[in-house]
Amino acid sequence: MSYPDRNNPYNFDAFIDWRKGFDYYGDDEFLQRVLKRFAGKEFNSVDAEARKFSKKVSFKWRDLSDAISVPEKRPYMMHYDGHRHRIDRIVRPEETRILEREIFSEGIFSAATNPWLRLLKMYLIYQNGEACVSCPLVCTEGLIAILERFADRPETKMILKHCREGIDGDFGIGAQYLSEIQGGSDVPANLIEAVRDGDSWKLYGNKFFCSAAHADYAVVTAKPSGSEEVGLFIIPSWLPGDRESEKRNGYTIDRIKWKMGTSELPTAEITLDGAVAYQAGPLERGVANVVGIVLTYSRLTVGLSAAASMTRAAREAEKYSEFRSAFGLQIGRFPMLKAQVDDIQMRARRTTAGGFKLYGDFLSLEGGLKGGLQTDESKDLKRKRFDVRELIMLQKITAAWDCTDALRDAMSVFGGHGVMEDFSSLPRLFRDAAINELWEGPRNVLLTQMHRDFQRASAWYPPGEFISSVLRGAGDPITRDMGSEMEDLLSHKSLLTMDEKTILVCRRWDDFCHRLYHEYQNIALNEVDR
Ligand SMILES: Cc1cc2nc3c(=O)[nH]c(=O)nc-3n(C[C@H](O)[C@H](O)[C@H](O)COP(=O)(O)OP(=O)(O)OC[C@H]3O[C@@H](n4cnc5c(N)ncnc54)[C@H](O)[C@@H]3O)c2cc1C
Repeated sequence: MSYPDRNNPYNFDAFIDWRKGFDYYGDDEFLQRVLKRFAGKEFNSVDAEARKFSKKVSFKWRDLSDAISVPEKRPYMMHYDGHRHRIDRIVRPEETRILEREIFSEGIFSAATNPWLRLLKMYLIYQNGEACVSCPLVCTEGLIAILERFADRPETKMILKHCREGIDGDFGIGAQYLSEIQGGSDVPANLIEAVRDGDSWKLYGNKFFCSAAHADYAVVTAKPSGSEEVGLFIIPSWLPGDRESEKRNGYTIDRIKWKMGTSELPTAEITLDGAVAYQAGPLERGVANVVGIVLTYSRLTVGLSAAASMTRAAREAEKYSEFRSAFGLQIGRFPMLKAQVDDIQMRARRTTAGGFKLYGDFLSLEGGLKGGLQTDESKDLKRKRFDVRELIMLQKITAAWDCTDALRDAMSVFGGHGVMEDFSSLPRLFRDAAINELWEGPRNVLLTQMHRDFQRASAWYPPGEFISSVLRGAGDPITRDMGSEMEDLLSHKSLLTMDEKTILVCRRWDDFCHRLYHEYQNIALNEVDR
């Protein structure tokens, strides 16, 4: 009960002050334990660096990320300068440029950066949402991975150096343009034409989803004239000497899309009209390399960024449940709400633990990533490579899916304030999470792909043995039951036949894959809690 008070003293200051002062790494004891468990002997050095780094990401970069998220700061196009030169300048707020410069100057992808520190830095950065840096970061990582294998001429070696180590303190930024208007998942249906021009190529046609369109370089898929094979190419956004005059390399940016999420990031539609391109790897391996190498990094990042935004959501929802009262009771003391908060926390923790465990598996992969299902390696290595490949897809679909659920639940803890974009960052993270679910392979596509992969591999890797390998530590009933369930699902020949039975198998396969990855995450979480 309360009496009227026209000078209502209510405020949110205690909650806001706590949130303002929270250090993403220094104050997160669980994250420190995760790092300790999975980084092993690297822990001490990474921990020391992470503490310094976290001061930037938790305060200044957090505020810059919030500042650029309002509609009036969205990037926009300036197609011509005042002298009728076509420039296609993407105008972005000064805060974005500062954020980008400071983050890229960290040299996250430098050969000298410890991989665990790289992972941790990215995880902390992702707690601030897209902010026009998360996508460009991972696109740059993918571009570097491709060039580390295939840079074979001065231009591509220079691009590699610019992106990985920086040139005079300036770090190159990468993008990846695969999707066309007729299809994003179906890369083999690409229509962009590549025409040989001496020892390089020229590209012609349209790309319909080009995120990080402000980048310096892009990995582009295209078909050489008269060929059905999709090759992989690198295009610089400006040829040497043209950057200052903003003369783009044989392409125009037609428009920037107006998106629900990742709205600080320019996603453009472009027309290539003779863009100079450098071949990256064998032409007939374009799809295998872009999927097996570039998209693998992107998919790992989707998992990691889902974990990061869930972590932030869980933290803020839990604290708010301790701060806010209703009907004379702290809301966290309503069992209904307590269950919801615990659930968000559990999802955030298992996704984080799973993401770090999988990164450890990925790092220990002898010979690094390779495109396609390899057949010329020892049985053990081939199986390990297969485990990592499938776990990355499983993580991508599961973490992205769980993330939108966890974010929505966290927003509901805040009641009506949960959807207010100037009350917290959660609505923005929720909008970004919806995008994460779609790009880098939508759920249905990856589920279909995995079903096909497991069938193709079953001659040298029976499903039961795959389950025993990836769920090592889960115990007998789980591995046995999941192994036989998987065998049964894979005995269905194809997920592409249109009949009632296949539709049922698709439903079961979807549910099975989700549960399978949760089991992997649970093992990871147990390892942290031990
Ligand atoms: C904000 C944003 C930014 C993006 N940025 C980029 C970028 O920078 N570069 C880039 O290349 N792309 C980018 N994309 C495109 C993205 O990768 C594609 O949207 C995605 O690959 C899906 O392609 P699509 O939209 O053509 O959908 P479609 O391929 O038409 O798919 C439609 C539906 O059909 C399902 N489907 C398709 N094939 C199968 C199958 N074999 N089995 C079962 N189901 C199937 C899909 O799961 C989906 O549900 C971006 C997308 C978004 C939303």
